[in-house]
Amino acid sequence: MTSLVRDLINTVHGEGDTSHSVDPPMQNVLDQLAQLHGQAIENLDVAQARVQPSPTDAVAALLRAQGKNPSPEALIPRVKSEDRSIPGGNGALWIRIYTPEGKGPFPLVVYFHGGGWVIADKNTYDAGARGLCDAASAIVVSVDYRRAPEHKFPTAWNDAIAAYDWVVANAAALNGDPRRVALAGESAGGNLAVATAIAARNRGSHQAVGVLAIYPVAQTGNTETQSYDDSANAKPLNKAMIGWFLDKLVTSPADKADTRLDLINADLVGLPPVTIINAEIDPLRSDGEMLETALKEAGVDVTRKVYTGVTHEFFGMGAVVPKAREAVEFAANQLRRDFGGPKSSSAQAGAQPRAPVAPEEPIAPRLAAIGYAAKHSFSDLKPFKFERQAALADEIEIDVLFCGVCHSDIHQIKNEWDNTIYPCVPGHEVVGRVRRAGAAVTRHAVGDLVGVGCMIDSCRQCEPCLAGDENYCEGPNSWLATYNGPMIPASKAPGGKNTYARDNTFGGYSNVLVVQEDFALKIPANLRPEVAAPILCAGVTTYSPMKHWGVKQGDRVGIIGFGGLGDMAAKIALAMGAEVTLFTTTKEKLEEAGRLGATGVLESDSSALESLQGKFDFLLSTIPQKHDINPYIPLLKRDKTLCIVGALEPMEGVNNQAVAFHRRNVAGSLIGSLQETQEVLDFCARHDIGPDIELINVDQINEAVKRAIDGDVRFRSVINMASIGSVDAGATVEDAAIFVSA
Ligand SMILES: [Zn+2]
Ligand SMILES: [Zn+2]
Repeated sequence: MTSLVRDLINTVHGEGDTSHSVDPPMQNVLDQLAQLHGQAIENLDVAQARVQPSPTDAVAALLRAQGKNPSPEALIPRVKSEDRSIPGGNGALWIRIYTPEGKGPFPLVVYFHGGGWVIADKNTYDAGARGLCDAASAIVVSVDYRRAPEHKFPTAWNDAIAAYDWVVANAAALNGDPRRVALAGESAGGNLAVATAIAARNRGSHQAVGVLAIYPVAQTGNTETQSYDDSANAKPLNKAMIGWFLDKLVTSPADKADTRLDLINADLVGLPPVTIINAEIDPLRSDGEMLETALKEAGVDVTRKVYTGVTHEFFGMGAVVPKAREAVEFAANQLRRDFGGPKSSSAQAGAQPRAPVAPEEPIAPRLAAIGYAAKHSFSDLKPFKFERQAALADEIEIDVLFCGVCHSDIHQIKNEWDNTIYPCVPGHEVVGRVRRAGAAVTRHAVGDLVGVGCMIDSCRQCEPCLAGDENYCEGPNSWLATYNGPMIPASKAPGGKNTYARDNTFGGYSNVLVVQEDFALKIPANLRPEVAAPILCAGVTTYSPMKHWGVKQGDRVGIIGFGGLGDMAAKIALAMGAEVTLFTTTKEKLEEAGRLGATGVLESDSSALESLQGKFDFLLSTIPQKHDINPYIPLLKRDKTLCIVGALEPMEGVNNQAVAFHRRNVAGSLIGSLQETQEVLDFCARHDIGPDIELINVDQINEAVKRAIDGDVRFRSVINMASIGSVDAGATVEDAAIFVSA
């Protein structure tokens, strides 16, 4: 497994191994539950399953054995409760209203119980709801939404919205404050709480002030998560039970992709603060972690706490499990914060809140566009419809023909630089044909073949920009990237400035691109357009430093790393007349190097490295992640330079003895300027060189990404964008949501 894949898995399963040691009080409940001789639900029919002993029954039995009264009223005497029916989405729903001690008006919590949408009700989950009422001093309304299989998906979701609306409308009559309503739920109900907040966001009125999701079901498509694995046979919830619940819930497997169930792939932007509580020993623990990531990446204020040594359903066990009392106290603190009460010190562990993205004022007609986007760091790329602003006077609209798949796209999709803005439409090696030109455009005409690399704008005023080094722009937001917005986002810019007036940009994995005419390059007639695409990034990234450090005829140049960048670097250096040595970890690539006209050397061959000491005029490292350059520094002649272009992260330390003794230089370089990009395109056309490419259809993009992570492939995948026409009709309802962006 490559380190990248490992990192990716760690991102999704970041909590590492769980000990699985159950706290003694929790173990007492599980032992008591076993003594009640319930049968495994997954082997029963629905009617039998609904009458099996529950963890709540086990807690009551334990209390009785201790000589205590297990009735809810005896355990939490300060709370009054009353059952009544309300109009639901289709017929009446039963609710239980818990009212705390005191005068009011109180804030309110609409609470949804668990039970996999099939079993259990407000009685089973009485303790959690009652405990919240007491601890948060809020009216809690627990809802008996209709259950499957009598009422399949999405009946419960519609009932949840109806109940929420009823509470908002009747808050005052309940001695509550309609401006302070929160949503909460456990397990299946945790999902309903988040889904109801999304529904409220969608219609734009009466949003809750906060959401409390206790071990929520955040998705059902992936049952290979770490917690599904390490807690597959946990009690009282196991993996088989979840399968049994889903079987009763959904009408067809397609329901699982509905974003009411598949919360992690829903549009979460603009939700109120969310608090997630998880139990360590629970198949749904990783669901909570994924939901936390998805919310963070959508800019939502999210706080998550995992309680160790306890299991699913622990939240309502405060009478016998101390961690449950802690969790209720924590949840109540979070709710008080959401209600505008005193802030708790533990409440700010999550991401900084970000203002919801407001659609921009339309200042020009908009173009419908379709692309491939990642919604989150753990998501595959999927079809995505959006809009671009039509070309202004000095801009051109480009029908994208080809787009290269660069390693930095992969870093960005996976949020490995910790700056990705989602949804993320990657792609910065774009070749296309001008479809329309603005009235003031002079450099390009309709029908021209043009290329767009990493940049689509820069400040045009700073010293580097005026010197033609746009790629080193020192404006407040640096240059504007073809995707993922300005290189320096407003949050990191002086005075919070955003001179480009856009947070996100959508790149070339799409059918159309709009760009300032200065930032579009001319594709020479004798360069195949699909081959030109990777030159716009991989080509210029290697050409620019070789030009800057003056590589010339007869120089000896070493290229470290023989992937896509190394391949381009070697071809360009050879065309410049240099003698080229390629350093690779792969034996098979030694021959490849020979075929190019270069010498191949294994990075592990220390005697070969020894014999090359002091021989090189220039070294270029193209390895796309952190690596040790110390073995190569001694290879440089006096005054010569080793330049790193592949890795953009902290590197291992350098032995300065090797640097100082021969006044050598260790340097870095970032892509290239517009002029250099045009030069390298013309240079490649003149010398008839280009990257080795493999054309793929856009629906093969996720495989291509996996291959690039795993295989250190030398060829470049290039998307044939004509294939995107065929995905349009297949886009799902959710994918068809229109996101407005520049
Ligand atoms: Zn690139
Ligand atoms: Zn600038």
